[in-house]
Amino acid sequence: MRAPFPETRVPPGIAAADWCDWRWQMRSRIRDADALSRVATADPDETEAIAKLSDRFHFVITPYYAALMDPEDADCPIRRQVVPRTAELDDPAGLADPLDEVAHSPVKNVIRVYPDRIAFCVNNECALYCRYCLRKRMVGEPEWAMKKQELGEALDWIRATPEIRDVLLTGGDPLTFSDERLAWLLGELRAIDHVEILRLGTRLPVTLPFRVTPELCRLLADHHPVWLNTHFNHPRELSAEAAESCDRLTRAGVPVGNQSVLLRGINDDPATMKALCEGLVRMRVRPYYCYQAQLLEGTEHFRVPVERGIEIFKALRGRTSGFAIPEYVLDTPHGKVPLQHRWLRGRDGDDVLVETWDGAIWREPNPG
Ligand SMILES: *Cc1c(COP(=O)(O)O)cnc(C)c1O
Ligand code: SF4
Repeated sequence: MRAPFPETRVPPGIAAADWCDWRWQMRSRIRDADALSRVATADPDETEAIAKLSDRFHFVITPYYAALMDPEDADCPIRRQVVPRTAELDDPAGLADPLDEVAHSPVKNVIRVYPDRIAFCVNNECALYCRYCLRKRMVGEPEWAMKKQELGEALDWIRATPEIRDVLLTGGDPLTFSDERLAWLLGELRAIDHVEILRLGTRLPVTLPFRVTPELCRLLADHHPVWLNTHFNHPRELSAEAAESCDRLTRAGVPVGNQSVLLRGINDDPATMKALCEGLVRMRVRPYYCYQAQLLEGTEHFRVPVERGIEIFKALRGRTSGFAIPEYVLDTPHGKVPLQHRWLRGRDGDDVLVETWDGAIWREPNPG
């Protein structure tokens, strides 16, 4: 038996009932160097970056997620995801909108790159802000908030576009909505005949697992089929609280998948990726995609060469359960492209030659 997922320690002086209350967590978020210094030893590079980047990209962390950080090590893989570093100031190639999402929006915050499905950025808020966020240009920025009327205009567009059978609610994070607003939105979408499936893209099981209440799970189950993808990047994020939130979702009949980002110094080695993926399947969460980090402003220090990414996922093949291995993809303005080792080596007469996971070459008869 593997050890159970570890419980996160409630910091001294905080009532357990507050700690487990998602609204208390939202109200009590860390937003400046001072608050950070109360939970982690100050690091000069972080302190400088917090000051210099404050007007560029929000620095906000939930107390729960901060409790996963190593208080003594600024290079901790949890801390690096959410605390600014001066390396962010130095990225000449990075773009604000590398996927050209604004140009792919028929109405505000509806991104369409495929005929049958859309990403619908229903809000601009998250529980915390990840330093490598693809939607840095919009998250936490008031002009990208969706007023109820704007949500209504997006719903009108979906109603008038019968090809759309799959609606992915993302953001920001759709689960920062109140249950009431979410119930309204899911209800409106469910009432559209051609919308077959609803999906949520949310990092809250990772960053604020207490949001996944029994009431929320009932609400989602009332609007089935609802699928959900979350976003764990490192095995240290696999806490008892996170496991419980995923368990509540799967028991409510919501298939839970994971979309991670390949990040230098965080999860860019086969052992860490394997531990992450195996921990996820122990939680019954299916690794779905692992994204190549985009050419996004301020993220040069996170990017890993594609060839290295391919090697990491090649190393998992044959060495863990097939369903523990996500598809490694590059997102482009045309959609997602799988990046894969070339297992098919070529043809020799009436045979094809393939490489196997253990390094052999297999010859398979395959008449042309
Ligand atoms: C990722 C994405 C989707 C969903 O893609 P799947 O491969 O079906 O998961 C849909 N629309 C946009 C704009 C996306 O970025
Ligand atoms: S939770 Fe997702 S949308 Fe929000 S900041 Fe992190 S990566 Fe961006």
